[in-house]
Amino acid sequence: MSGKKQVLKGRLFSWTRFFVTLQEVIIPDISSHPLMQKDQDFPELADLRKTFERGITRDFSWRRSQLVALEAFLIEREQDIAQALHDDFRKSPAETFLTETGYLRGEIRFVLKHLKSWMKPHRVSIPLIYQPGKGFYISEPYGVVLIIGAWNYPLNLCLAPLISAIAAGNCAVVKPSEHAQHTSKIIAEGICHYLDRNTMCVFEGGVDATKSLLEEHFDYLFFTGSQSIGREVMHAAAKHLTPLTLELGGKCPCIVEENVNLRVAARRIVWAKFLNAGQTCISPDYVLVHENVEEELLRYMSDAITDFYGDDPRLSPDYPRIVNENNFHRLEKLLSLSSPSRECSTGAHDYYVAPTILQGVTLEAEVMHSEIFGPLLPVISYRDLGEALKIIGTGRNPLALYLFSSDPKVQERVVHQSRSGGVCINDLLFQASIHRLPFGGIGSSGFGAYHGRAGFDTFSFQRSVLKRSLYPDPDLRYPPYGTRKFGFLKRLVTFFH
Ligand code: NAD
Repeated sequence: MSGKKQVLKGRLFSWTRFFVTLQEVIIPDISSHPLMQKDQDFPELADLRKTFERGITRDFSWRRSQLVALEAFLIEREQDIAQALHDDFRKSPAETFLTETGYLRGEIRFVLKHLKSWMKPHRVSIPLIYQPGKGFYISEPYGVVLIIGAWNYPLNLCLAPLISAIAAGNCAVVKPSEHAQHTSKIIAEGICHYLDRNTMCVFEGGVDATKSLLEEHFDYLFFTGSQSIGREVMHAAAKHLTPLTLELGGKCPCIVEENVNLRVAARRIVWAKFLNAGQTCISPDYVLVHENVEEELLRYMSDAITDFYGDDPRLSPDYPRIVNENNFHRLEKLLSLSSPSRECSTGAHDYYVAPTILQGVTLEAEVMHSEIFGPLLPVISYRDLGEALKIIGTGRNPLALYLFSSDPKVQERVVHQSRSGGVCINDLLFQASIHRLPFGGIGSSGFGAYHGRAGFDTFSFQRSVLKRSLYPDPDLRYPPYGTRKFGFLKRLVTFFH
């Protein structure tokens, strides 16, 4: 049977597709499926483009059926998905549900509820001088899109953009991160088994695989990852003039003002920071706390760590590990250059880094130079809000900004005097869970947005249509213009727009 698989591999896609159906009946193992290729060149793109050109992905019924099928995958394979994420970096099933499958199912429900109305042409009013006429714009799919995911929410960051891409009527190629291999495999299986294989496929593999994909001409690129790789992706997109969205990271600050319930603030900050062991693009990267309440906040945060993860977080089933050796050593180095507020342990054999609060950190410290992306939380005190805002302003635009304050004037001031992809006041992370709120960065944290309607718009091209009547057809617009005609035209164009 494996010899037969070898023969099937490498054949032209259209030829093998016939056999794949046959093969699936005989062989339940789909690892040799041509839609799950590893590190090969990419002849399927032409087939996806042909499918797109046939127009089936434009139908509402196709979009709906794919979203329903994706939901079925998330429901039926929930246990396997949870296991895959656990195998990748010991993520707990509860966290996987809250931040991956649960979120995605909610997003699908939300999109299904609104999709028909989003797909309707949008009528606009037409100025008097262009009457009689009708104007509208329609949201059209781009074509074949490429979605490149990061490893830290490996399912969510591939499938949430895919939901938007399907909703907008595109064909899609998904490239999951090579650093979460178990999740990558289950994404490939899910898309292959549940979705329309003529319109979607998964391309697994490492950096070289991504680079070879980026050589191809896609109609839209959606990249989630680091700023440095984001630059490379943008460079590759420029070659084909491909439009793109970059969902990048950054250092997200969290301000804690004097007059708030510090216990609640501390618990929420600790939860948001150490969820996924700090490997979250919108986790609070550092805390700016008013000097009068610094000690109290630190005490509450330390209590919260013990409440959530016990005296030894290593033993907690709810505390994940660092994804790989490189990141583990990077964090160990940062730790060795800092002074934790309580003893911090690490374990090289399972990439464990304890939830760690760093006290007395200066702005010059190594840990403040780049995104931490791990369970280290520097706490810096400030005297007045102006000082805190200045510190935030000197950094580059973060993906998220957090504020704990009960004072509406302070809330307004912080929102108006800062810039970030999103803001959440008196809580953290949930700005990314609301399907009606666009999610994306600004400046160095990326550009473009998705989730809900924003995702549909991102993956749609807005095509303007103007319909006019052949009559009347006055001479006024045609040359020769002459002084009087030109004067009249000027008045007409200025006043009747
Ligand atoms: P990464 O940039 O290293 O990798 C992301 C993807 O790019 C992977 O699929 C990888 O295969 C590919 N890649 C890696 N090197 C490449 C190269 N030279 N050329 C082309 N492709 C390449 O990012 P990561 O380590 O997976 O994720 C962490 C980063 O992502 C953090 O900075 C984090 O803040 C950011 N992030 C942002 C969001 C967001 O929504 N804005 C979400 C999650 C993570």
